[in-house]
Amino acid sequence: MSTHHPDDALLLDYAAGAAAQGPALLVATHLTFCPHCRRNLAAMEQVGAALMETLAPQPVSADARQRVMAMLEDEPRIESAAAPSPVTAITGGPALPRAVRELVGAEIGALAWQPVLSGVDQILIDQTPDGGRTRLMRIRAGRAVPRHTHRGTELVCVLDGGFSDVSGHYGPGDVAAADDAVDHQPTADADRDCICLAVTEAPVRLTGRFWRLLNPFVRF
Ligand SMILES: [Zn+2]
Repeated sequence: MSTHHPDDALLLDYAAGAAAQGPALLVATHLTFCPHCRRNLAAMEQVGAALMETLAPQPVSADARQRVMAMLEDEPRIESAAAPSPVTAITGGPALPRAVRELVGAEIGALAWQPVLSGVDQILIDQTPDGGRTRLMRIRAGRAVPRHTHRGTELVCVLDGGFSDVSGHYGPGDVAAADDAVDHQPTADADRDCICLAVTEAPVRLTGRFWRLLNPFVRF
Protein backbone atom coordinates (compact mmCIF):
# COMPACT_ATOMS: atom_id res chain seq x y z
CA MET A 1 0.00 0.00 0.00
CA SER A 2 1.41 3.32 -1.00
CA THR A 3 1.80 6.01 1.60
CA HIS A 4 2.93 8.82 -0.72
CA HIS A 5 0.28 9.88 -3.23
CA PRO A 6 0.08 12.37 -6.11
CA ASP A 7 -1.44 15.62 -4.84
CA ASP A 8 -5.13 16.38 -5.38
CA ALA A 9 -4.45 18.97 -8.10
CA LEU A 10 -2.58 16.40 -10.20
CA LEU A 11 -5.21 13.71 -9.65
CA LEU A 12 -7.91 16.21 -10.60
CA ASP A 13 -6.01 17.17 -13.77
CA TYR A 14 -5.77 13.47 -14.57
CA ALA A 15 -9.50 12.97 -13.94
CA ALA A 16 -10.26 15.90 -16.25
CA GLY A 17 -7.91 14.63 -18.96
CA ALA A 18 -5.88 17.81 -18.50
CA ALA A 19 -2.62 16.27 -17.27
CA ALA A 20 0.33 16.29 -19.68
CA GLN A 21 1.42 12.93 -21.07
CA GLY A 22 4.27 12.26 -18.63
CA PRO A 23 2.39 13.14 -15.45
CA ALA A 24 -0.66 11.25 -16.76
CA LEU A 25 1.44 8.11 -17.20
CA LEU A 26 2.83 8.57 -13.71
CA VAL A 27 -0.65 8.90 -12.18
CA ALA A 28 -1.91 5.89 -14.14
CA THR A 29 1.07 3.93 -12.83
CA HIS A 30 0.45 4.99 -9.25
CA LEU A 31 -3.22 4.03 -9.58
CA THR A 32 -2.25 0.43 -10.32
CA PHE A 33 -0.72 0.34 -6.82
CA CYS A 34 -3.15 2.51 -4.88
CA PRO A 35 -6.80 1.70 -4.07
CA HIS A 36 -6.99 4.93 -2.04
CA CYS A 37 -6.34 7.09 -5.12
CA ARG A 38 -8.54 4.88 -7.32
CA ARG A 39 -11.41 5.68 -4.95
CA ASN A 40 -10.59 9.40 -5.01
CA LEU A 41 -10.40 9.34 -8.80
CA ALA A 42 -13.77 7.60 -9.03
CA ALA A 43 -15.25 10.29 -6.77
CA MET A 44 -13.69 13.05 -8.88
CA GLU A 45 -15.09 11.50 -12.03
CA GLN A 46 -18.56 11.35 -10.47
CA VAL A 47 -18.36 15.01 -9.52
CA GLY A 48 -16.99 15.83 -12.97
CA ALA A 49 -19.87 14.02 -14.65
CA ALA A 50 -22.36 15.87 -12.45
CA LEU A 51 -20.73 19.19 -13.35
CA MET A 52 -20.82 18.36 -17.05
CA GLU A 53 -24.58 17.93 -16.80
CA THR A 54 -25.16 21.25 -15.08
CA LEU A 55 -22.54 23.60 -16.51
CA ALA A 56 -22.08 25.06 -19.96
CA PRO A 57 -18.56 24.30 -21.25
CA GLN A 58 -16.07 26.93 -20.14
CA PRO A 59 -12.43 26.99 -19.04
CA VAL A 60 -11.94 25.70 -15.52
CA SER A 61 -10.78 28.52 -13.26
CA ALA A 62 -8.73 28.13 -10.12
CA ASP A 63 -11.87 29.09 -8.24
CA ALA A 64 -13.83 26.30 -9.92
CA ARG A 65 -11.10 23.84 -9.03
CA GLN A 66 -11.33 24.90 -5.38
CA ARG A 67 -15.08 24.42 -5.42
CA VAL A 68 -14.70 20.96 -6.92
CA MET A 69 -12.12 20.07 -4.28
CA ALA A 70 -14.50 21.34 -1.58
CA MET A 71 -17.28 19.16 -3.01
CA LEU A 72 -14.96 16.18 -2.95
CA GLU A 73 -14.26 16.77 0.71
CA ASP A 74 -17.97 16.26 1.33
CA GLU A 75 -18.28 13.35 -1.06
CA PRO A 76 -18.88 10.04 0.72
CA ARG A 77 -16.00 7.73 -0.09
CA ILE A 78 -16.79 4.89 -2.44
CA GLU A 79 -15.80 1.71 -0.68
CA SER A 80 -14.55 -0.34 -3.57
CA ALA A 81 -13.28 0.87 -6.89
CA ALA A 82 -12.41 -1.78 -9.44
CA ALA A 83 -8.74 -2.65 -9.32
CA PRO A 84 -6.84 -2.99 -12.58
CA SER A 85 -6.22 -6.60 -13.46
CA PRO A 86 -2.96 -7.90 -12.03
CA VAL A 87 0.05 -8.08 -14.31
CA THR A 88 2.39 -11.03 -14.33
CA ALA A 89 5.97 -10.81 -15.50
CA ILE A 90 6.77 -13.23 -18.29
CA THR A 91 10.52 -12.70 -18.17
CA GLY A 92 12.57 -12.46 -14.98
CA GLY A 93 12.16 -9.61 -12.55
CA PRO A 94 9.13 -7.77 -11.25
CA ALA A 95 6.24 -6.94 -13.57
CA LEU A 96 5.79 -3.44 -14.93
CA PRO A 97 2.37 -1.80 -14.85
CA ARG A 98 0.75 -2.44 -18.22
CA ALA A 99 0.82 1.18 -19.46
CA VAL A 100 4.57 1.38 -18.85
CA ARG A 101 5.19 -2.11 -20.20
CA GLU A 102 3.52 -1.18 -23.49
CA LEU A 103 5.66 1.94 -23.85
CA VAL A 104 9.02 0.32 -23.13
CA GLY A 105 8.28 -2.94 -24.94
CA ALA A 106 9.70 -5.39 -22.40
CA GLU A 107 9.72 -6.32 -18.75
CA ILE A 108 12.36 -4.93 -16.39
CA GLY A 109 14.65 -7.93 -16.70
CA ALA A 110 14.69 -7.76 -20.51
CA LEU A 111 15.24 -4.02 -21.02
CA ALA A 112 18.36 -2.58 -22.69
CA TRP A 113 19.24 -0.17 -19.87
CA GLN A 114 21.40 2.81 -20.84
CA PRO A 115 23.98 3.93 -18.27
CA VAL A 116 23.50 7.58 -17.28
CA LEU A 117 25.79 7.99 -14.31
CA SER A 118 27.66 5.51 -12.17
CA GLY A 119 25.05 3.20 -10.63
CA VAL A 120 22.18 4.86 -12.48
CA ASP A 121 20.63 3.60 -15.72
CA GLN A 122 17.64 4.70 -17.73
CA ILE A 123 15.17 3.79 -20.42
CA LEU A 124 14.00 6.96 -22.13
CA ILE A 125 10.28 6.82 -22.85
CA ASP A 126 9.62 10.33 -24.09
CA GLN A 127 11.20 13.77 -24.18
CA THR A 128 9.88 17.23 -24.93
CA PRO A 129 11.65 19.96 -26.96
CA ASP A 130 12.35 21.95 -23.77
CA GLY A 131 14.17 19.09 -22.08
CA GLY A 132 11.32 17.42 -20.21
CA ARG A 133 11.76 13.68 -19.91
CA THR A 134 9.74 10.63 -19.05
CA ARG A 135 11.89 7.61 -18.31
CA LEU A 136 12.41 4.50 -16.31
CA MET A 137 15.31 4.86 -13.91
CA ARG A 138 17.24 2.09 -12.24
CA ILE A 139 19.33 3.00 -9.21
CA ARG A 140 21.54 0.09 -8.26
CA ALA A 141 21.13 -1.29 -4.73
CA GLY A 142 22.76 0.99 -2.18
CA ARG A 143 23.78 3.57 -4.79
CA ALA A 144 22.76 7.21 -4.85
CA VAL A 145 21.77 9.61 -7.59
CA PRO A 146 24.15 12.60 -7.36
CA ARG A 147 22.76 15.42 -5.25
CA HIS A 148 20.63 17.71 -7.39
CA THR A 149 17.86 20.25 -7.48
CA HIS A 150 15.31 20.82 -10.22
CA ARG A 151 14.24 23.18 -12.92
CA GLY A 152 10.51 22.70 -12.76
CA THR A 153 8.79 19.68 -11.29
CA GLU A 154 10.14 16.17 -10.85
CA LEU A 155 7.65 13.37 -10.25
CA VAL A 156 8.84 9.88 -9.41
CA CYS A 157 6.79 6.73 -8.89
CA VAL A 158 8.62 3.72 -7.47
CA LEU A 159 7.89 0.51 -9.37
CA ASP A 160 10.15 -1.89 -7.49
CA GLY A 161 12.57 -1.64 -4.58
CA GLY A 162 12.71 1.72 -2.87
CA PHE A 163 14.76 4.84 -2.18
CA SER A 164 15.23 7.40 0.55
CA ASP A 165 15.97 11.10 0.52
CA VAL A 166 15.59 14.02 2.91
CA SER A 167 11.80 13.78 2.65
CA GLY A 168 11.51 10.12 3.66
CA HIS A 169 11.42 6.59 2.27
CA TYR A 170 9.55 5.63 -0.88
CA GLY A 171 8.51 2.07 -1.69
CA PRO A 172 6.56 0.46 -4.54
CA GLY A 173 3.73 2.70 -5.75
CA ASP A 174 4.88 5.73 -3.77
CA VAL A 175 5.03 9.07 -5.56
CA ALA A 176 7.73 11.61 -4.74
CA ALA A 177 7.31 15.17 -5.99
CA ALA A 178 10.17 17.66 -5.96
CA ASP A 179 10.74 21.12 -7.40
CA ASP A 180 13.38 23.83 -7.42
CA ALA A 181 13.01 24.21 -3.64
CA VAL A 182 14.15 20.61 -3.09
CA ASP A 183 17.82 19.63 -3.11
CA HIS A 184 18.14 15.90 -2.61
CA GLN A 185 20.20 12.78 -3.16
CA PRO A 186 17.88 9.80 -3.65
CA THR A 187 19.59 6.64 -2.40
CA ALA A 188 18.36 3.16 -3.31
CA ASP A 189 17.64 0.61 -0.59
CA ALA A 190 20.71 -1.47 0.19
CA ASP A 191 19.20 -4.85 -0.64
CA ARG A 192 17.60 -4.29 -4.02
CA ASP A 193 17.81 -2.16 -7.18
CA CYS A 194 15.27 0.66 -7.23
CA ILE A 195 13.22 0.85 -10.42
CA CYS A 196 11.11 3.95 -10.85
CA LEU A 197 9.22 5.99 -13.39
CA ALA A 198 10.57 9.56 -13.41
CA VAL A 199 8.94 12.55 -15.10
CA THR A 200 10.95 15.78 -15.16
CA GLU A 201 9.93 19.07 -16.75
CA ALA A 202 13.55 20.00 -17.45
CA PRO A 203 17.05 18.63 -16.83
CA VAL A 204 17.98 18.54 -13.15
CA ARG A 205 20.79 20.72 -11.82
CA LEU A 206 23.57 18.84 -10.03
CA THR A 207 24.55 20.51 -6.76
CA GLY A 208 27.19 18.23 -5.24
CA ARG A 209 30.64 19.72 -4.66
CA PHE A 210 32.17 17.86 -7.59
CA TRP A 211 29.12 17.11 -9.70
CA ARG A 212 28.08 20.77 -10.03
CA LEU A 213 31.15 21.31 -12.22
CA LEU A 214 29.67 18.84 -14.70
CA ASN A 215 26.40 20.71 -15.26
CA PRO A 216 27.54 22.20 -18.57
CA PHE A 217 28.28 18.69 -19.85
CA VAL A 218 25.65 16.48 -18.27
CA ARG A 219 22.06 16.70 -19.46
CA PHE A 220 20.63 14.49 -16.78
ZN1 LIG B 1 -2.42 7.00 -3.95
